[in-house]
Amino acid sequence: HDYASGQEGAESAPVGFVLSWQDVTAIWHAELRGQQLLILIMAGAYMLTQLVLLLLLVRLRAMMQQHVNAAAAEAEQAQRQLHSLLSDSPVVTYSLRLPGTALEYISPNCNHLLGYAPEQIIGNSSWWLDHIHPNDRDQVRETLDWSRWPTKGIRRRYRLQHQNGQWRWIEDRCRTTLTADGVRMLNGVLLDVTAQHRAEEALKESERSLRRAQRIGAVGSWEYHFADQTLSWSAETYRIFSIPPDQTPDYALFISRVHPDDRELVDAAWHSAMQGERYDLEHRISVGAEVRWVREMADFEHDETGVLRATGMVQDITTQKLREQELHRLATSDALTGLANRRHFMERMEQERARAKRFNTRCGLMMVDLDHFKQINDRFGHATGDRVLKAFAHTATSRLRQIDIIGRIGGEEFAILLPGTDLAGAEILAERLRLAVAEIAFADLDALQVTTSIGITLITAQDDEVDTPLSRADKAVYAAKHNGRNRVETAL
Ligand code: GH3
Ligand code: MG
Ligand code: MG
Repeated sequence: HDYASGQEGAESAPVGFVLSWQDVTAIWHAELRGQQLLILIMAGAYMLTQLVLLLLLVRLRAMMQQHVNAAAAEAEQAQRQLHSLLSDSPVVTYSLRLPGTALEYISPNCNHLLGYAPEQIIGNSSWWLDHIHPNDRDQVRETLDWSRWPTKGIRRRYRLQHQNGQWRWIEDRCRTTLTADGVRMLNGVLLDVTAQHRAEEALKESERSLRRAQRIGAVGSWEYHFADQTLSWSAETYRIFSIPPDQTPDYALFISRVHPDDRELVDAAWHSAMQGERYDLEHRISVGAEVRWVREMADFEHDETGVLRATGMVQDITTQKLREQELHRLATSDALTGLANRRHFMERMEQERARAKRFNTRCGLMMVDLDHFKQINDRFGHATGDRVLKAFAHTATSRLRQIDIIGRIGGEEFAILLPGTDLAGAEILAERLRLAVAEIAFADLDALQVTTSIGITLITAQDDEVDTPLSRADKAVYAAKHNGRNRVETAL
């Protein structure tokens, strides 16, 4: 440029060129070497980084592998434990997807319970119902509508057939759950309760037998616990006391059924049993308007603290008691007149004699013989004779006091004990009786008049045996006969 023109830069036109050359070979070579070195260094650094990263990766991989191995071992161990747990467990677990009946899972111990491997059962939609006992099927079918189950699930008991053909009692406890993705699952466990079921059946059967036996024998049982004062009755006990089985029994309820006249007796027996005496008694009970007899026996268990428990039985002995009373009546009374028979009269007389001796009291004795009775028989027949004997018994009984004892001691001979009555009293009574008998009117046999010869004596402390006063009375009767019959005589 021509700087002198005063114009600078692009405004001025160049006026010429100056060229210069320099040898830069050495510099260029030096630069090239520098670049090569840099590249070499960078490559080296890159390789080193890669190597470090590789090493790190290898290390990481090894560490992760270790973790994976440990987790796998743990899972395998858990799996083994679960398997052995499920195999050894008495409980078979199962699950299935609802609706449907094909199992999705059943634990391997089903083999043990049912003789089938899980593969034989899983996915088979008819297996379960097919293997239920025909008699249990209907009852199980009723439980199939799971939508009606309570949330805690259900329990059902039925028989499943083992592969060997035998039936196993199964308790099936199951319930449904909803998984996170909205699938309704049925999960359950199966328990073999065959032994328990048999034991329960055996227990029920023995309870049934006991109830039957109690019913047949009219024997009830009861148990009283003193600690909490609880009483329990068997079904037959309820029946005997005629109390509805839903009522809870207690001692007061029992006593309320005891006949009022026997309550004191029962109470006393109960209290002496608590003192260690034997509890064994017969008493009456009132069942509505009916009076029944029971026998009660009980065993009282004691320990150092006192009475623990009483276990007893109550037997309805009404029938036996009535039979016993009837037998006693037959054994002690005369069939024709219903009066005491000779043997029974003699026993009673011996009691009165002993009493007279012990307490130095007196007892009137009257002996009555019907006059010319043979003739009555001969004239009117034996049946009429019997009628006369009955009429005499009736008349005599109606004249006597409650405590007097009359017996038929021979064919047409009667004797009467008059406890506490002296000779004068006996004489008055004898006279009244004589007149009353003589007045008996036999409507269809108007010609018939029955008279009696009566002998009187007293049983006193001096009489050592019944025969002594008896023979005195006999003598008095003989005297009455001798003196014309239809009269009273006394002998001392
Ligand atoms: P007496 O005045 O001396 O006592 O004369 P009696 O005829 O009453 O006395 P006797 O001893 O000679 O006869 C008793 C009769 O009583 C004889 C017997 O056939 C009768 N006799 C005894 N037991 C029964 C009976 O159960 N039924 C009836 N119909 N007669 C009886
Ligand atoms: Mg006679
Ligand atoms: Mg006679």
